[in-house]
Amino acid sequence: MKAIRMIEPGQPLQLQEIPIPSFGEEDVLVRVRAAGICHSDAHYRAGRSGMGRLPITLGHEVAGEAEWVGAKVPNVKAGERVCLHYNISCGDCEYCKAGNEQFCTTVKMIGHHVDGGYAEYVTVPGRNAIPLPDEISFEEGATLMCASATAFHALRKGRLKAGETVAVFGVGGLGLSAIQLAKALGAVEVYAVDIKLDKLELASEYGAIPIHAARLDAVEEIRKLTNGKGVNVALEMIGLQTTMKQTIESLGVRGRAVIVGLSQLPFEVHPYRTLIGYEAEIIGSNDHLLEELPLLIDMAQRKVLDTSHVVSRTIPLDAEKINQRLDDLENYTEDVRAVIVQRG
Ligand SMILES: [Zn+2]
Ligand SMILES: [Zn+2]
Repeated sequence: MKAIRMIEPGQPLQLQEIPIPSFGEEDVLVRVRAAGICHSDAHYRAGRSGMGRLPITLGHEVAGEAEWVGAKVPNVKAGERVCLHYNISCGDCEYCKAGNEQFCTTVKMIGHHVDGGYAEYVTVPGRNAIPLPDEISFEEGATLMCASATAFHALRKGRLKAGETVAVFGVGGLGLSAIQLAKALGAVEVYAVDIKLDKLELASEYGAIPIHAARLDAVEEIRKLTNGKGVNVALEMIGLQTTMKQTIESLGVRGRAVIVGLSQLPFEVHPYRTLIGYEAEIIGSNDHLLEELPLLIDMAQRKVLDTSHVVSRTIPLDAEKINQRLDDLENYTEDVRAVIVQRG
């Protein structure tokens, strides 16, 4: 089969002809129909993250058709449309047993530690394949598996309740999903903070109140719009010290700040004014859980969550075109979300 693979860190991905992956009775062999090209893939290609093996096929946002289903897989039928949970966990360690499988001691991510979806086929354990309803395209199904799922997990970590207010810092793929999901979970008001006007316009289309952080002080504006109270839940989706600080400062009494954006840099918190005085909480949110994905797919099927804006370009399984998109992500030259599509 054809696979677009990372051979060496810092080098372009290459087309290789490799055998169709092997599978056992607890596995599903998936004919890949869509694989999202994610910002993480640009980090992997550049060599900024340790890979499980080399060469490796990238691609962790995957949807396709179950071509072959092992005898011990109860949840998927052969020929069924599926999308894939990218974390392969053991199901048996103390973290898995407690329902925190993203901390599984032997967790492996497809397209990072084991071969992923930039290929004609991929094999995953049966429980990682989730049925995808006909109403959701393969492209959307693939992208649901990363940004939308992570946004959903963050809102759950923030314990958002109906009737509460939310601020979302950063209106990318994560932020737009978070806005819609927050509304679906009953948020009465969602404030969207960004410095780009086109993103803020998109945020308003999905019912958020835009706050243009290039022109206004986002924290002051949120205080003003909430009559001084601040929000119940604030999500940081960017990974910048300033926005992390603002996320916490925009909270009200018993507010929860959820940090999703990645950063290696420390940020400052004023303990009395922003934390103790409000009994506020700062919560880290990491990836998402398998159990959250069927809920997310259900919301997409009901059109509560619309991810059609996420996919702005489809490309074939072609090394040159994939490298080009990864270059765009790497250089922030073009803000497009491309998905590799292979039609049946
Ligand atoms: Zn991703
Ligand atoms: Zn485990």
